[in-house]
Order: sequence, then structure tokens, then C-alpha cells
Amino acid sequence: MGIGYPEDIAKVIALGVDMFDCVLPTRLARHGVIWRKKKSGKFIKLKNLQYGYEQIDITKSKYASDFETIDILCDCYTCKNQFSISYIRHLIKEQEPLGIHLLTMHNLKFIFNLVEDIKHKIIDKKF
Ligand SMILES: [Zn+2]
Repeated sequence: MGIGYPEDIAKVIALGVDMFDCVLPTRLARHGVIWRKKKSGKFIKLKNLQYGYEQIDITKSKYASDFETIDILCDCYTCKNQFSISYIRHLIKEQEPLGIHLLTMHNLKFIFNLVEDIKHKIIDKKF
């Protein structure tokens, strides 16, 4: 409960926790903040898990002209349908609920994918 940051989820899974409930992915989405996989930036380094990601605030002005998808490798509804960061930023700035929904779907899928990756490592006895 209340464990929502990716690195904290990985840590508690290593301790045997297998159920989570936290508002963080949706709370961050409401404020225009997303997580996405990245080869540089923050790294979760735990046992054999090396998971790079970044947390970005798309309400910052530098994202106003970012016409890329959040993460082209992400399989969430938002990324698969190629909503651009600048469009979602516009929605968030204008307080359109669709912006929150799009970011929430992405952040939740990010966490689901992280847990799925850890699950496969556990099955392969690499975590
Ligand atoms: Zn996504």
C-alpha cells in the first residue's frame, strides 16, 4: 500500500510482496507526469534487474512542440494510437479529462510492464 515508484515496487517484490495498491501512477498522470523506459536516466538496479526509465513532466514548455509518441515501444492505448506528447500536454493544460485518461493508461501500463518483466525474471530464476 502506498508503494508506487518503480524502484520501490521492484524492491518490495524482491522482499516477497506480490500485491500493490497505490494512487501514484494516476496522481502523477493528473499532473501531467509520466514514466517511460529509457536507456539512460534513472536505473532500477536490483539483483539481475536493470530497468532504465525516466519521469518527465510534460506540462513543461519544452514539450509544447514534442510531436513524438510518449514511448514507441509501449503497448498502451495512448502510445499504440500515437497521441503526441504536445497534444496530450495541450489537453492537460486545458484541463480536458481526455489528457488525464491518456496519461493514466500509459502510466498504469508502464507499471504493469515492469511487474511483468520482473515476473518473467522470477520464472527464469534471474530475480
Ligand atoms: Zn504508453
